[in-house]
Amino acid sequence: MATLAAAPANRKVLQGGSFLISDPAAKDCFFPEDFTEEHRQIAQTTTEFAMNEVVPMSDAIESKDFAVTRRLIKVASELGLTSVDIPEEYGGLEMDKVTSAIVADNIARQGSFSVAFSAHVGIGTLPIVWYGTEEQKKKYLPRLASGEWIAAYALSESTSGSDALNARTRAVLSEDGQSYTLNGEKMWISNAGFADLFTVFAKCEVKEGKDAGKERLTAFLVEKGGAGFTVGKEEHKLGIRGSSTCSLIFTDCRIPVSNLLGEVGKGHHIAFNILNVGRYKLGNAAVGAARMTTGHGIRYAKDRQAFGKSISEFGLVQEMLADCAVGVFVGEALSYRTVGMIDAALAEVDKHDTAAIQKVIESYAVECSIVKVWDSEMLDRVVDDVVQIYGGYGYVEEYPAERAYRDSRINLIFEGTNEINRLIITGWLMKSAMSGKLALMPAIQRLMEEVMAGPLEREDHEGPLAEEHALLANAKKLMLFTAGAATQRYMQQLVDQQEVMGAIADMIIEIYAMESAILRAEKMSARQNAEIPMAMARIYAETAMEKIELASRRTLATVAEGDTLRTQLTIHRRLAKHDPADTISLRRQVAQHVLRTGRYAL
Ligand SMILES: Cc1cc2nc3c(=O)[nH]c(=O)nc-3n(C[C@H](O)[C@H](O)[C@H](O)COP(=O)(O)OP(=O)(O)OC[C@H]3O[C@@H](n4cnc5c(N)ncnc54)[C@H](O)[C@@H]3O)c2cc1C
Repeated sequence: MATLAAAPANRKVLQGGSFLISDPAAKDCFFPEDFTEEHRQIAQTTTEFAMNEVVPMSDAIESKDFAVTRRLIKVASELGLTSVDIPEEYGGLEMDKVTSAIVADNIARQGSFSVAFSAHVGIGTLPIVWYGTEEQKKKYLPRLASGEWIAAYALSESTSGSDALNARTRAVLSEDGQSYTLNGEKMWISNAGFADLFTVFAKCEVKEGKDAGKERLTAFLVEKGGAGFTVGKEEHKLGIRGSSTCSLIFTDCRIPVSNLLGEVGKGHHIAFNILNVGRYKLGNAAVGAARMTTGHGIRYAKDRQAFGKSISEFGLVQEMLADCAVGVFVGEALSYRTVGMIDAALAEVDKHDTAAIQKVIESYAVECSIVKVWDSEMLDRVVDDVVQIYGGYGYVEEYPAERAYRDSRINLIFEGTNEINRLIITGWLMKSAMSGKLALMPAIQRLMEEVMAGPLEREDHEGPLAEEHALLANAKKLMLFTAGAATQRYMQQLVDQQEVMGAIADMIIEIYAMESAILRAEKMSARQNAEIPMAMARIYAETAMEKIELASRRTLATVAEGDTLRTQLTIHRRLAKHDPADTISLRRQVAQHVLRTGRYAL
C-alpha cells in the first residue's frame, strides 16, 4: 500500500476525542521534538523563504501589490512549498500532514502573505485534490502546484457566513445538459483579486436519489475571466490588509458540466471536510505568528530602558513574556499532537483512497476545532501582551506589534467562528456519547458511582509531573461530571443552551491543551534537561484548571438549584481541590530563560 512521504510509521492510532476518557501515553503523541530530519529541513527552507523573501517585501504586500504576492507564491512553489499536499502524479510532493503544518507554521511571518498562501494551498487547492475528476486534476493541479495559477474558495455570502448551507447563489443545469448557469454573489473571498480558479458553492437541484427535486449545495470550478463573472472591489480591513478580499458576482455565468466538482447536492461534504484541514493549518499558522511576535516582545523588552533599567527586569513585564512563551509551547504541543495523530491514522490508509483520507481527517474534527479555537485565542493574547510590552510604540504603525495585533483578530472569525467551533466541539461530544462511538456515557456513569460512594481517592501518578497528571485526571472528571449534570437537566435540548455548550467546550479545549503541555514536557524530560518545558507545563496546568473550574461552576449554577446544587458544588470542590503551584516563581524562571536566549527557543 502506498503511504505518504515522511509519514512517521508505527505510532499508535488514537481515536478522535478519546483523550477525554483515556490517558494517552507521551510516547504515543507526536510533538515538535519528534520531527524527522526531512521535517527539520522543510522547516528551515520555509523559514528562510519567509524571512529572506517575504518579510522584506512587507510594505509592498501591505499596499496590496498583488504582483508581489503572486511572484512570492511562485518562488515558494519552486521550493516545493505549494505542492506538499498535491499527489506526485499531478506535480506535487505528496508529503505527510505534519509537513504541511510545518509549512503553515513557518511561513506565518507576514500575516497577509500567510493568508494568501494558505488560501491557495489549502482551501483553494484541496477541493480538487480530494474531489476532482481525473481530468480536472490533470488540468488544474500541476498549474496550482507550480504557482502559475492561484486558487480561491468561495463559500460565504453576504447573508450566509456561519449559516453557509443557506446560500442564495443558484446553479441551473441547461436543457441540453451541457452547462450550468450560475447566478448570485459570494462575499469575503480571500485571493479573489488575483486568483485564477475558484471553488464556488451554489444551490443546485438534485435530479436523482432521496433528495430528488430539492436544491442542495453543490461545488463548481470556475475560471476567472468568463462571461458573467466579475470580481468586486477590495474590502478595506482591520488587519491582513495586504491580502485580497473581494466579492464575486455571477450573472448568467455559464460553466461547462465538466467543471462540476464532486456530485450535485454533495457540496456540503466538500465545504466542511476542507474546513477541518483549514482549521488545523490555521492553528499552526497562529503558533508561527505567536512565536515571531513573542520574539519581538523579548527583544524590545531587553532594549527598552525605564527607571534606570531594562524593562525586562520588571516582574510584570516578565510575567507577560512568560505567558507568551508558554502560549507558544502549548500551541506547538496541541497543534503538532493533532496533526501527528492524523498522520498516524493516515499511515494505515491507501494514499490514493481520498474518501478514506477524508474520513480519517473527519474523525479528528473535534481536535481540529480545538486547535483552531485555542491557537487563535492564544495568538490574540500574545499580540495584546506584546503591544503592551512596547508601550506607546506598540500603538504605532512603525513597530511590528501594531500590525501583529491587527492581523491576529481575523483568526477568531474565519474557518468557522470560534462560537461555531465551540458548538461543534460539544455537539460532537453529545453525538458521540449518544451513538456509543465514544464510551462517554459509561465513563460518566462510573464517575457518578465513584462520587456517590464517598470521598474521592486521589489518583497516584509517578514522575516529575505527578501533581499535574493528578490535576489533569481531576479536570477530566470535572468535565464529565459537569457534562453529565447538564445532559441530565436538558437532555436533547442541551443544544438550545448555547452558553452551557460553550462552557463545556471550554473545559474540553483546556483539558486537551493542558494534557498536550504535560505530555510534551514529559516526553522532552526523557531525552534532555527539560526544566523550562516542565515549568511551562506546570504554569499551564494551573491556568487551565482555573478556567475549567470556573466553567464548571458557572454551568452547575445554571443546571441545578437548592440542595441538588449544593451537593453538586461539594463534588465540584472535591474534584477541583489542589495545592496551587507557585506560578509566580515559575513564570520568572521561564522569562529569565527567554531573556537569556533572546527568543522563544526550545
Ligand atoms: C478577511 C476575511 C477573509 C475571508 N475569506 C473567506 C474565503 O476565502 N472564503 C469564504 O468562503 N469565506 C471567507 N470569509 C468569510 C468568513 O468565513 C465568515 O465571515 C465567517 O464564517 C463568519 O460569517 P459571517 O461573517 O456571515 O458572520 P455571521 O455568521 O453572521 O456571524 C456573526 C456572529 O454571530 C455568531 N453566530 C452566527 N451563527 C451562530 C450560531 N448558530 N450560534 C451562535 N453564534 C452564532 C458568530 O459566531 C458571530 O459572532 C472571510 C472573511 C473575512 C473577514
